[in-house]
Amino acid sequence: MGFCSPVFKFLRRGKYFVLLLLSLSVLAWIATFKGEMVKSFQVSSAPTQTLVKGDSLREKFSSFTAATIRLSTPPPKADCPLESPLLQGALQLTFESSLKLKDVESENKGVSEGEYEPSDCTARQNVAILIPHRSRERHLLYLLHHLHPFLQRQQIHYAIYVIQQAGDATFNRAKLLNVGYMEALKDYSWDCFIFHDVDLVPENDHNLYICDKQPKHLVVGRNATGYKLHYKGYFGGVSAMTREQFLQVNGFSNTYWGWGGEDDDLRKRIELQKMKIMRPPADIARYTMVFHKRDSGNEINKDRMKLLGRTQQVWRKDGLNSCSYKTLSLERMPLYVNVTVDIGKPQS
Ligand code: UDP
Ligand code: MN
Repeated sequence: MGFCSPVFKFLRRGKYFVLLLLSLSVLAWIATFKGEMVKSFQVSSAPTQTLVKGDSLREKFSSFTAATIRLSTPPPKADCPLESPLLQGALQLTFESSLKLKDVESENKGVSEGEYEPSDCTARQNVAILIPHRSRERHLLYLLHHLHPFLQRQQIHYAIYVIQQAGDATFNRAKLLNVGYMEALKDYSWDCFIFHDVDLVPENDHNLYICDKQPKHLVVGRNATGYKLHYKGYFGGVSAMTREQFLQVNGFSNTYWGWGGEDDDLRKRIELQKMKIMRPPADIARYTMVFHKRDSGNEINKDRMKLLGRTQQVWRKDGLNSCSYKTLSLERMPLYVNVTVDIGKPQS
């Protein structure tokens, strides 16, 4: 009778209640434990910490989880230094006739599909190098051989695009560079574009392949011209413009077929926008041009002076916004992106 007293009933219920509470909290603990375990293995499979005797299992586990997360999320990379510590200054260039593409590929294992980015710091600029090309394979090989290590020492994020003119119609360097700009932007929002002749090899890595507040001309001198500026206003060979600067001038004219004039036309477009061309010091902006004769299919453009007289009238409708072409192939080679295009032929 006394057993069924309300006090006893309460105690008995209370016991079950405490038991229930205990098992619920054990269940909840197991659930969080499992959750953390899954999370930590999703973050990383990095090695564990040694567990210290005397810790409670929960403490051990949470410190293990925290350490795993710390180990697996690398701290954000600092910006690369303003001046790369890897620069060497004036370089000894070599042009070995025995050099093979395979050699250049194995020298540049850090390059993937023509692209490279420093591993230990965040590059300050993202730069697309555009090379207009047709039948100059040897020059391209020498350039790749020198340019890849050169750009890596400058600690920039870059990719090299070679734009090949298909067919044997008259060559059009400017239009190929317009195509290169548009094709490269499909891959990545590059900040800066370097328009680069295939036969010019930079001699000093202080000649930085980055863009500035104003368009930049990188070839003050070359061996062939006694390292003097070709002529006042020369903007050919190798030049650098930001994505916005190039867009602002509507890119190159598409109408210069054959040799000459297209670089002067770009200079005129720049001047019309009240921009000013900058150049690095002459002792740095030096290039070796691999010797060559004028290519067949790139004869002097006799119309170039006439065209240059019209730049101011036509630049708004002749350029990036009117550049029509057909991409025949786009191959991602180890050391460059190879874009082959049909850009048509001169009218009439
Ligand atoms: N180019 C080419 N194949 C040609 C003609 C020209 O690849 O048949 C490209 C190449 O990048 C070259 C640039 O156009 O460096 C300028 O042509 P060229 O070297 O004849 O000009 P120059 O030596 O007078 O600056
Ligand atoms: Mn040349």
